[in-house]
Amino acid sequence: QFITKDGRRIDVEITATAFYDPVSGEFVRTRAFVRDITERKKLEGAIRESEEKYKNLFDNLTDSLFMLDTDGRVMAVNRKQEEVLGYLRDSIRGGDFPLILVEEDRRIFAELLERTREGVNPPTVEVEVINRDGDLLTMEMDIIGIRRNEKMDFLVIHLRDVTNQKALEEQLLKAERFNALNHFSSMLAHDLRNPIIGIRQRLKSLQGASPDVTNRVLTDIVTSSELLLGLINDVLDVYQNSYADLPLIFSSFPLIEAVDEAVKLLQIEAEDKKVQVNFHCCRDGSMEVYADKRRMKRVFINLLDNAIQYSDTGGRVNITCCHAEEKPGYLQFTIEDEGIGIPPERLPSIFEPLYKVGKQEIKRGTGLGLYFCKMIVDAHGGRVWAENRPDKGASFCVTLPAGEGSHAH
Ligand code: ADP
Repeated sequence: QFITKDGRRIDVEITATAFYDPVSGEFVRTRAFVRDITERKKLEGAIRESEEKYKNLFDNLTDSLFMLDTDGRVMAVNRKQEEVLGYLRDSIRGGDFPLILVEEDRRIFAELLERTREGVNPPTVEVEVINRDGDLLTMEMDIIGIRRNEKMDFLVIHLRDVTNQKALEEQLLKAERFNALNHFSSMLAHDLRNPIIGIRQRLKSLQGASPDVTNRVLTDIVTSSELLLGLINDVLDVYQNSYADLPLIFSSFPLIEAVDEAVKLLQIEAEDKKVQVNFHCCRDGSMEVYADKRRMKRVFINLLDNAIQYSDTGGRVNITCCHAEEKPGYLQFTIEDEGIGIPPERLPSIFEPLYKVGKQEIKRGTGLGLYFCKMIVDAHGGRVWAENRPDKGASFCVTLPAGEGSHAH
């Protein structure tokens, strides 16, 4: 300690350097650097003091706490920490805090520490902490910078053990997935069963039938099998891991061709329900798309199938194919029905997998149709969305990049 001229005591740190003269063999000069460390001392005192002050609170908290100096060295820990992580306060004091984190989390800690120093409150992060026995615990970590006089004084690290919670979440997720799969399998079984029963009945009716009837029945059977096959292909496509795994087979073809084929395939279904399907194309048939024809046809089948299913008996479905008005270079397919429509709050979620609007549809549909449509249209660089029509029913739109043979708008 120095005493200043005006009688104040200040804490100093002295570093002395001596210069040796090799010629005379003597120390010729000695230099002493005196640094005023009063502030630092005060700070250390305050830290000790606050440590005392917070000790009670500190020890009685149910989460693990570490008090660190601004370099990340441990100054104090609470009792809970000793229980959860097992580091005894005397052995860990003065040690580097990041050393109890796994290596990649040390980098994260360094970044967060930097942000705390800059006065930003960093977000809660999940880290892997190594306990005294070398086991890994998953913990949520908060870093709180305690400031005094605009300067960072010390840090409090708050760690919450979420290891059990994580294991529980994983189990829940598994159970949910299993449930979803269960639900999905029964839906799929149901969707497959009816057309197969239909096919069997038609085959039975062939016995002793006239050539005319036979021909019609055979055409029906081919159509039904094609729809079934399409359904199975959708499921296979949806269960690919990613778009990258989805082998799209591109070619240029008139959009109207794919739509036409879809309409033809669902003709019987529409007739059964007395739904009138109108198809209108804004131009001649030359509007070409560059797309995977089989899959685009499946998209149209799914949308038309829904439009028919959710229509009232005797309703109308209007399909139009035009150049997209708001998107030059794109074609737009729109399908409108006069059915039950979609509750507005559900509009954003109907494209999610296994989504079903109400319990009443529980008996039909896999809930994959729209998800499949979105997946395929996205993979083509297009967009699919749904709206409710002002008067009644829903409308679904698909935009797709126009192919080379298409006229610009
Ligand atoms: P699903 O196999 O159940 O038809 P989708 O993915 O095709 O599955 O559709 C998801 C949900 O969106 C349906 O269960 C239905 O509630 C709603 N939906 C789809 N299309 C229409 C439509 N044209 N009118 C009213 N609701 C529809």
